[in-house]
Amino acid sequence: MLVLILFGPPGSGKGTQANTILQNYPNSIYISTGDILRENIKKNTELGKLAENYISKGLLVPDEVINSMIQNKFQEINNSNHSKNNKLLILDGYPRSINQLKFLLNLVPINCIKSVYLKLNLEEVIKRIVYRRICLKCNRIYHLIYNKPKNNETCDICNEKLHQRSDDKEEIVINRYNVYMNSTLPILQEFKENNISFLEIDGNQEVEKISQTILNYLKSTTF
Ligand SMILES: [Zn+2]
Repeated sequence: MLVLILFGPPGSGKGTQANTILQNYPNSIYISTGDILRENIKKNTELGKLAENYISKGLLVPDEVINSMIQNKFQEINNSNHSKNNKLLILDGYPRSINQLKFLLNLVPINCIKSVYLKLNLEEVIKRIVYRRICLKCNRIYHLIYNKPKNNETCDICNEKLHQRSDDKEEIVINRYNVYMNSTLPILQEFKENNISFLEIDGNQEVEKISQTILNYLKSTTF
């Protein structure tokens, strides 16, 4: 099994790239900590309530919470027999700190980990996130510049008024970016020290070009 860490600031396109990888490797497993947290918040679980407090302020959810969430997910995968058929596991939004990386290294052998780093500056991050809108009915995501709905701010499919996620507001985005720079970027140094291979990609290129680079990287990797 190969664990591929998708790494990069919020809005760098990790989710989009994960989708492309999933299309090319249909048997792979995708774990997005953001999706899991949002799901828990929506269902108002204990984890959800705890997480919402941090997320709405642009802060990171504490390591222990995220780590146990990931551990549960890994256990689920091991129990379900999934791991025998699925050779690629994509992690989006994890690890986000040195502590999370150390926890991951207890779960997965170091030589089974690779990473893709999508590099993007704050200005571009803001441009991408602040104009993002979501339809709460069908979960379709729009962008008021790059992926406009046909009618201003309503969903093309359900005609619902589009919603801006509270953590997509500009001041929160700046906060998220700073938190990312401070607690996440040191992980790259740790990758180097542990000889974890990572591919650095300029996140400001066309989506297709980035996808191709990632797919070539995976092709050159045996797993
Ligand atoms: Zn919709």
